[in-house]
Amino acid sequence: EKEALQRFVGKKTVTADGCQVELFGNIGSVEDARAVVDNDGEGVGLFRTEFLFMDGGAMPTEEEQFRAYQQAALIMKGRPVIIRTLDIGGDKDIPYLGLEKEDNPFMGFRAIRYCLAREDVFRTQLRALLRASAFGDVRIMVPLVTGVEELRQVRALIRRYADEFSREGVACNKDVPVGVMIETPAAALMADALAAEADFFSIGTNDLTGYTMAVDRGNDRVRYLYSAFNPAVLRSIRSVIAAGTAAGIPVGMCGEAAADPLLIPLWISFGLTEYSVGPASILATRAAIAGWNHEEARALAEAVMGAVTPDAVLDLLKAAAR
Ligand code: PEP
Ligand code: MG
Repeated sequence: EKEALQRFVGKKTVTADGCQVELFGNIGSVEDARAVVDNDGEGVGLFRTEFLFMDGGAMPTEEEQFRAYQQAALIMKGRPVIIRTLDIGGDKDIPYLGLEKEDNPFMGFRAIRYCLAREDVFRTQLRALLRASAFGDVRIMVPLVTGVEELRQVRALIRRYADEFSREGVACNKDVPVGVMIETPAAALMADALAAEADFFSIGTNDLTGYTMAVDRGNDRVRYLYSAFNPAVLRSIRSVIAAGTAAGIPVGMCGEAAADPLLIPLWISFGLTEYSVGPASILATRAAIAGWNHEEARALAEAVMGAVTPDAVLDLLKAAAR
């Protein structure tokens, strides 16, 4: 099977009817960026920067962060590198940040909520990202967004730090694209408003599934509900892609569902333009995308979106699997 995938090396990512999409890799470190290149990825769709913070015993300095982001940009040689701002809290604890224990950490003080409250931490990261933006196609992505104010606040900070740099004569891209992860039901419902102000979307199906289904995926009793095959999750994803497309911004997906060959015909028919998957899944995802043309994908999606249970969805997708 691995050998069969080798014929997709060096190829564009296209549907069977010739529509090109982007196929990026998810990374958590600079070494992972090399794995994206080795697996013929076309960019980085999600750099999970929290690992830079989790690996050491102290906060990475601006210089340390800059070097990591710069290296990722250089390794990708001008191809897109979407870097997510710090997404801690929830299940990702970092002892030195001194986060208080919460009864409901997934609903609590995490990700962009934390960063907007800790301007010192956020400033260091945004400055490092801005400096790295001079070395490639760096784009900034904001996790766990719930509404437009958060995006506006992030943009205002980026503008302020970019102005500081321009006064100091430090190179940076003051027009660095700023996108949002769509991974809360609130963001999905506000997708039209967010699309008017964001440069791009990336759908985080891991969290979006959990929050949409009100399920903690670590809880064995309810894990059966944790599935992107739920019609509620699929409807949400479909409407987010439609909203982004209507506003003319690129819509990607960086959760696990982006690499699921059963679901790929749905993403094709909904109009997803960018897939970001683990480096080891890049070629298999390119192969899966090549197996579908829009007409067949649309016919399947129409049947699937008429189904009202996850089992019915799964049956239809399995019966059609390539
Ligand atoms: C997601 O939620 O789908 C996602 C890609 O982010 P993470 O898995 O890091 O929460
Ligand atoms: Mg997430």
